[in-house]
Amino acid sequence: MSGGRQTGGVVMNFATFRRQWTLAPFLDACAAAGMSRVSLWGDAVEALGLAETRARLRDTGLGVFGYNRAGPLLAADAAGRAALIARAKDEVRRAADLGADHVLAFTGGTPPGVLGLDDHRAHAAEALATLAAEARSAGIRLALEPLHPMLAGDRTVLTTLAEANALADDLGDNVGIVVDAHHVWWDPALRAGMAAAAGRILALHVNDWLVPLPHPLNGRGMMGDGIIDLAGLHALARAAGYVGPVEVEIFSDHWWSQPPEEVMTLALDRCRTILGVLP
Ligand code: ZN
Repeated sequence: MSGGRQTGGVVMNFATFRRQWTLAPFLDACAAAGMSRVSLWGDAVEALGLAETRARLRDTGLGVFGYNRAGPLLAADAAGRAALIARAKDEVRRAADLGADHVLAFTGGTPPGVLGLDDHRAHAAEALATLAAEARSAGIRLALEPLHPMLAGDRTVLTTLAEANALADDLGDNVGIVVDAHHVWWDPALRAGMAAAAGRILALHVNDWLVPLPHPLNGRGMMGDGIIDLAGLHALARAAGYVGPVEVEIFSDHWWSQPPEEVMTLALDRCRTILGVLP
């Protein structure tokens, strides 16, 4: 598999800075802060251009950790789903092309016309099997990231670690799980879910849950500002064999309005003091 497994460290997810920085200054800042990898989004790669993105990665010496994303996958009819899956397969190949460690699968929200989640879950499982096969042939791991159940209508039909583990069991050994603090911290079965994910955790996304929650999507907190036991979650990931970096992923109207250099410095400081990890 591409990317390799490096121990520890911190990775910045571009989404944390998407309103203040384009990709080029983001890459420069990550390299200057001593990080060795970054997590990217396809729209930002497209904005900079694939060739220029490659050149900047080469010049900064940065590798790609997570690539967002393959999906959405759900549409109201079979033709719509086929078109989305074709596009998602292109993203899988592009992620592999950039040497990413893993590509995140994203089912997307529920299309109109069908009530409930049963049909959508079945369609998502079919689509994910297709993407898993594509990823296998491209030589990259496919990452399932359960999202908070509050987002089941808007963003995903995959909402628990238990579901992600069951899907990963079915889909084969190039399929793993991304654990995001914001999405899993509330789960009464968290400990069991993390243990069941042993050996297939591909990333640990960190942020915090603020009370009251400012916004379900764009109201995430800086590590240490909320109520998640991040050190405890990190310990569960390590106990499950995860040796990779912690990845800072903060979708936040507040932090997007702050100077990005200061956000990065603060995030690195919190990773050091709360989780004991350095760039
Ligand atoms: Zn995440």
